[in-house]
Amino acid sequence: MRTETPPTVRLEDYRPSDHLIDRVELDVRLDPHDTRVTATLALRPNPAGRAGAPLVLDGDDLTLLALELDGQAPASDAVRADASGLTLHRPPQRPFTLRIETRLDPTANTRLMGLYRSNGVYCTQCEADGFRRITYFLDRPDVLSVYTTRIEAEREAAPVLLGNGNPVEAGTVPGTDRHYAVWHDPLPKPAYLFALVGGRLDRVAKPFTTMEGRAVEIAVYVEPGKADRAAYALDAVERSMAWDETAFGRAYDLDLFNVVAVSDFNMGAMENKGLNIFNDKYVLASPETATDGDYAAIEAIIAHEYFHNWSGNRVTCRDWFQLCLKEGLTVFRDQEFSSDMRSRAVHRIAEVRNLRARQFPEDAGPLAHPVRPKQYAEINNFYTATVYEKGAEIVRMLRTLIGETAFRAGMDRYFADNDGTAATVEDFLKAFEAVTGRDLSRFAEWYERPGTPRVAVSSSYDPAARTYRLAFRQTRPGAGADAPPLVIPIGLGLVGPDGPLDSPHAERVEDGVFVLETAEDAVTFENVAVEPVPSLFRAFSAPVRVESPLDDAARLTLLRHDPDSFNRWEAAQRIALGLMTAQVRGETAGNAGADDFVVALGAFLDAEALRDPAFAAQVLALPSEGDLADEIGTEIDPDAIFAARRDLRRRLGTGLRERLLSLREALAEPEGTPFSPDAAAAGRRALRNAALDLIAAADPEAGSALAQAQIAQATNMTDRLAGLAALALLPGEAREAALSAFAERYANEPLVLDKWFAIQAMIPEDGTVARIRRLQGHPAFANTNPNRVRSLVGSFSLANPTQFNRADGAGYALVAETVLALDGTNPQVAARLMTAFGPWRRLEPVRRAAAETALRRIAATPGLSRDVTDIGTRSLAG
Ligand SMILES: [Zn+2]
Repeated sequence: MRTETPPTVRLEDYRPSDHLIDRVELDVRLDPHDTRVTATLALRPNPAGRAGAPLVLDGDDLTLLALELDGQAPASDAVRADASGLTLHRPPQRPFTLRIETRLDPTANTRLMGLYRSNGVYCTQCEADGFRRITYFLDRPDVLSVYTTRIEAEREAAPVLLGNGNPVEAGTVPGTDRHYAVWHDPLPKPAYLFALVGGRLDRVAKPFTTMEGRAVEIAVYVEPGKADRAAYALDAVERSMAWDETAFGRAYDLDLFNVVAVSDFNMGAMENKGLNIFNDKYVLASPETATDGDYAAIEAIIAHEYFHNWSGNRVTCRDWFQLCLKEGLTVFRDQEFSSDMRSRAVHRIAEVRNLRARQFPEDAGPLAHPVRPKQYAEINNFYTATVYEKGAEIVRMLRTLIGETAFRAGMDRYFADNDGTAATVEDFLKAFEAVTGRDLSRFAEWYERPGTPRVAVSSSYDPAARTYRLAFRQTRPGAGADAPPLVIPIGLGLVGPDGPLDSPHAERVEDGVFVLETAEDAVTFENVAVEPVPSLFRAFSAPVRVESPLDDAARLTLLRHDPDSFNRWEAAQRIALGLMTAQVRGETAGNAGADDFVVALGAFLDAEALRDPAFAAQVLALPSEGDLADEIGTEIDPDAIFAARRDLRRRLGTGLRERLLSLREALAEPEGTPFSPDAAAAGRRALRNAALDLIAAADPEAGSALAQAQIAQATNMTDRLAGLAALALLPGEAREAALSAFAERYANEPLVLDKWFAIQAMIPEDGTVARIRRLQGHPAFANTNPNRVRSLVGSFSLANPTQFNRADGAGYALVAETVLALDGTNPQVAARLMTAFGPWRRLEPVRRAAAETALRRIAATPGLSRDVTDIGTRSLAG
């Protein structure tokens, strides 16, 4: 059902369901166009609900074929059913059974919610509200049921039939070419964790024995012929299982753990109980087709979905307002896993880059919302960077505040107290209060309000008293005077001209952390022999913006001597940001600053590049155009930002040229070295490619030659794609020839073609809008495949600021047209694409007007989905 003005759901209106469903028996007879689903539901009144209330089951786009209540057809005036719901006006006040038969067309389901077909494979996606597209149900996360699912299909079309839980029975249907499998999941779960799969799939598997002694079979299913590309994902599942036992004491609880990769998927992956369904982008990997970034993402997302088995499935969410309870916590858990598998410092930098690129702008724009929203019109629009990434930062701060030992004890308590239930953020914090005896009610404020807090820091040194004082003041954008201050953990230390200062002591600084709990506070270090440089918010100890007292000389001291790697990187980033923003604002204070920066980076490379290439690559990678826009904040001119960044890259490329060239030599793998996706090898490739980027910026001719040679010699996708990306920034014949050759080589590799589409979408040139329009007509492009849409139009809107924000509005028009074209078939992806307009009010006037025109054009279109209507309404409000 489509509505013009979507109803708003409010957290304060939550009340328990009036009915519960203890058991669900599903009989699903798969057919491309005429799938029949019979659901037998064991219902009863909920003692916590309203006695005598009608039974209202959710539905979405359903066709009801038959209905029985305790074996009888109910009287026609006792029931009302349509595509969007089924109501029993006077349900029995005792346990009863409903048998509901519905008909579905999986092939026509282009929204990819509920049951659909992807490349001939039947699969499901039920979070958040997808199960109601399969049968009428109490489709809310606080109704937990035990599921038994019989799946039947033509044997030839779907030899593999998978469900949640453990397999209990399989066989043929006599007299037909069909077969069936029955799956039983003994653990009660909400409907959003339901899944089934049917299709032709290849399988790789390995055994795992849990710390509790359970023998588990881990299996990964992929399209026929691609089994060799599933090995890395399979290995990542095994490592995730082992890690969750060691790090959190959590063991797996079924006999099977299945992962299935499908090519049409709205999200990254889904943690259905015992049957994770993945976007194949996050499963399939080979050196020839996947970059180091792809390998890292596969490892992280496999881990994330597996970790949900406890943080999400065993303990689920009471309602969708508590989404961060499973997502923020599970992102934190997967970040910790990746940090243990790779370099913790480098991973932390990547996390913060991502937070600043996605969450900070969201928090500063019209789509800002608290980590736990208070209301929503369409929950699918709240799978956001705020809920996920800021949600993870809150968990990280909690650990910093109470310490690792208490944190682990609190997690154990949370799982023990809430296992098998649907919990809230309050339940989560209660577990930590219980083990620490602390009152966390003030800390809970982090969940309640949108906006990135600011902390202004000032410093003073008294050489006579040998004391050093740091004063902090916190403010929050848009927060009223009544808003209580946040509890902000500040990791800090002092650095002297020759290295970290060890001896200074300050009251209320414990283990290098000061906790700011009031609007203003200060700490005084004693026994400070020389004026130090403060290293603030070490390891990014809180998701805030810092107004720091440091000048560039102080930052260079940190880049040289700070034992905190994150702040070494941060020092270089802040210097670069300062140089670039000065140029954008026309405050050209001479070139001295840039020259000093080049010299300092040269010294840094001499000391660190070969010791830790992955870290050096992060230091060399300048803040993005988005970072600059976020720093500047208002009247944003993307062309001026682009020019400033281009100029600084040129200066670095020129000033560091000899070093960069010799680093590329020194870091080259000897011929015949087998490919390894591990962090060390990936780090070497990252630094070589960062060097290529800067060389090409300074000297296009040399860069073009290097890039072409790299493409010709590449033995893996990381190097090949980095060569192509460098070449893509250099207009001319060589670029077009390389793009054609790449497309030809990978014509039958959809995931690699996604990269080819994306690279072209990101070319910062006037011709790109026309190029994208051409590519939308390419035989390999299809609006029905979310990965394709994201790689072409998503990359353009999010990673090509000058062309998306063209002053003539052509970039906005392109994205608006795509949103409208997509809305009828896949509103969830359309709405996601539209969020690129989020920062429109912060643009300079000409672009602001053009963006508003495009937004209003979308909003004025009749018959929009609830998803797009919601984003449009919020983007234009205020
Ligand atoms: Zn998740």
